[in-house]
Amino acid sequence: MSNKIFIFLGPPGSGKGTLSALCMQQFGWELLSTGNLCRDHIARGTELGKEIQRFSNQGLLVPDEIITELVADWLLTKQQLSADVIFDGYPRTLEQARSLYLLLQTKLKLFGVCLVKIDIDAKLLVDRILNRVICSNKECGHTYSLKSVSDLQAKNNMICDHCNSKLEHRADDTVESLEQRLKVYYQHEQNIIDFYVDKGIEVCMISSAQPKQQVFEDFKNMALNNYGC
Ligand SMILES: [Zn+2]
Repeated sequence: MSNKIFIFLGPPGSGKGTLSALCMQQFGWELLSTGNLCRDHIARGTELGKEIQRFSNQGLLVPDEIITELVADWLLTKQQLSADVIFDGYPRTLEQARSLYLLLQTKLKLFGVCLVKIDIDAKLLVDRILNRVICSNKECGHTYSLKSVSDLQAKNNMICDHCNSKLEHRADDTVESLEQRLKVYYQHEQNIIDFYVDKGIEVCMISSAQPKQQVFEDFKNMALNNYGC
């Protein structure tokens, strides 16, 4: 049996993070965070870490080749453990999708890909994001909602349930920046989906306009039973 990579596609605020957290708790899957990998390499002073530092010092995005190397390294260790993994926010572009595909064709053949699109209404999304607060501890990064009707409210006001760090708004969670981010996001998402469909990989659709437990149930039913992942 091969290992699975579940690629969660969905705009910021669609509930990918929440679904990932449930999958980690319930199935023991591991989450790829390219942000954490970058920080880890910088902290350990590896060659890749030094390169990443150079780009971020100049305020530049880390190039796709470096991200691909990081992901390949990480996946290799997971392959040895026969772990299933979640990709949330990677691949972010068509270029990254291509690199990942190539990697899985050559070095990491034990992994199969399942593409999971988390579907959400634009109005609901804006409402969610404007009410969203995130744990300030980067290693934790749990997401909460300020809305009292939400099942994502923190137990204590503005304190993380998991690590007791302070919760904060993301500086770029405003309507204007949101519209711009969404436009860019959907363009990339469509390119990525087209790429995988062209390679014969199906897309599994989950509606995010329901309580998180139901989203998780839908995911379990579709992705694990019917989708043939
Ligand atoms: Zn936390």
